[in-house]
Amino acid sequence: MKPELSVVIPVYNEEAGLSQLFNRLYPALDALNLSYEIIFVNDGSRDNSVSILAQQFQLRPDVTRVILFNGNYGQHMAILAGFEATRGDIIVTLDADLQNPPEEIGKLIEKMREGYDYVGSIRRVRQDSAWRTIASKAMNRLRENITHIKITDQGNMLRAYGRNVIDLINQCAEVNTFVPALAYTFARKPTEVVVEHEERAAGVSKYSLYSLIRLNFDLITGFSLVPLQFFSILGMFLSVGSAALVVLLLIRRFLLGAEAEGLFTLFAIAFFLMGVILFGIGLVGEYVGRIFQQVRARPRYVVQTILQQTQNDQKHD
Ligand code: UDP
Ligand code: MG
Repeated sequence: MKPELSVVIPVYNEEAGLSQLFNRLYPALDALNLSYEIIFVNDGSRDNSVSILAQQFQLRPDVTRVILFNGNYGQHMAILAGFEATRGDIIVTLDADLQNPPEEIGKLIEKMREGYDYVGSIRRVRQDSAWRTIASKAMNRLRENITHIKITDQGNMLRAYGRNVIDLINQCAEVNTFVPALAYTFARKPTEVVVEHEERAAGVSKYSLYSLIRLNFDLITGFSLVPLQFFSILGMFLSVGSAALVVLLLIRRFLLGAEAEGLFTLFAIAFFLMGVILFGIGLVGEYVGRIFQQVRARPRYVVQTILQQTQNDQKHD
């Protein structure tokens, strides 16, 4: 029994907002008049989220499934695990904190029915702190320039994907990926719609500054080699420049004698170059780390339990 729509929601320490989410999500989906399933993926929550999800599963076992990870593997891994469990033709992802209004899902479905296989979304007015909005815009622009991925608003997870895209994603064994970008690379006919965005209903953001930086490194290094290529070009210019400097200093030494002034300018140049080199090594490390994880080929996440109706249960209904 395949539903038309599968909704995938990652959950990490969301006990404060889950009941509000259920109260809006289920009616919104019921109103769409199509068959659906909701797959919650608990990403190793340490609060009461699991029992709240289990309760909800008991209330609506016909349309609810819950995947429980044994630890915290990150939002994007949780979504990938959810994807593997989906059976619908249209797959929608959504945050658990109600920043993506469930009432907007209908808009995405409408677009999908027009024949698109990837519907991204642009937040009409973004309800996040100012520094995140600014930083995110800057990252958006960088990504735009160094990958072929055209996503206007990359930070928003309210998106719809066709079965063809999800099947391809399920074949990838990528670690630390960025789901909307990965999906975009497989989409034949992508489009975007404008949606509302709300403030987090309850609880706090699960992303620290550090995990945001990590996520953006994964986005860039997972989808582009331009940073590496940039460094080889930069290295080329710098070595030509420093060779010229050596020649210049050599000539000066013979014409004017040894110099001591300007020594600190030289220090400044040297320290700047050291910074550039360190960043370059770090960047190479990012890619090597990626290769390392891929070569190790460990399971990307471990599912502890899945709460779902068995076929026999369904027959009793
Ligand atoms: N999330 C997750 N694992 C994590 C971090 C976040 O599953 O390690 C989930 C979280 O529960 C929420 C979604 O990912 O449903 C987005 O997280 P959040 O709202 O904290 O991010 P923000 O809106 O601040 O970017
Ligand atoms: Mg959020």
